[in-house]
Amino acid sequence: MQTLELGEAAWKQRLDDGAAELGVRLDESQLDALWRYGVMLRERNQHVNLTSIVSPEGILTLHMLDSLSVASHLGDARSIIDIGTGGGFPGIPLAVAFPERKFTLIDGTQKKIRFVNEGIEALGIRNATALAARAEDLSRHGGTQSQYDLVIARAVATLAELVHNAGRLVAPGGRLLAMKGRLPEDEIGAVPRGWHAEVFSLRVPGLDAQRHLVSLTRVSPQAKGKPGAR
Ligand code: SAM
Repeated sequence: MQTLELGEAAWKQRLDDGAAELGVRLDESQLDALWRYGVMLRERNQHVNLTSIVSPEGILTLHMLDSLSVASHLGDARSIIDIGTGGGFPGIPLAVAFPERKFTLIDGTQKKIRFVNEGIEALGIRNATALAARAEDLSRHGGTQSQYDLVIARAVATLAELVHNAGRLVAPGGRLLAMKGRLPEDEIGAVPRGWHAEVFSLRVPGLDAQRHLVSLTRVSPQAKGKPGAR
């Protein structure tokens, strides 16, 4: 297995420090699991296009810490689904950091889910399941579970598309969290009626770039995730 140039000890130390800044405590086994996942991601990416971020620094900051930057917004959610997880973000770092919560990771691309499942298996992440599925199909046909306390998505679709495709997956009283870069004002203006958007700034340790979280909640029980629904 190849290693990341940053060096295992330095990489883990920076992950530990960055996570602590975000209020997340990681023990040695959790740091080790995320290190090993990063190595696996980098290795596999030489053969299968999983991510454009492959440097040790990038994996640390733009994948691991960026994923953990939503930690304080998870509330008391027990069941969480990551829509469009790609190479496993934010779902894998969150599942490793919060073993008491149950995570489902989905993506429409089979080869990405094959990799995520291999990672889950290799690292023994018992609170995560990965499925090759599109959000809209899962919500139409039902998956392992039909609704979740939290639906989360990073860098996937517009807010309106997320509500349309994944709104039905949000349990009553639950939230849909969209992780974005710059403030997506146009998208917020186009949020379907029946849904309320709240915006938070996120800070990623070691990163000088804008990050925002849009939290979407139903404002009326009639809203079923269709654009224009009241
Ligand atoms: N969330 C990952 C991250 O931030 O690294 C991947 C982001 S990538 C830009 C978007 C991913 O969303 C792709 O892997 C794509 O296959 C997936 N995707 C887009 N729409 C989807 C849908 N409706 N259901 C499931 N996956 C979807």
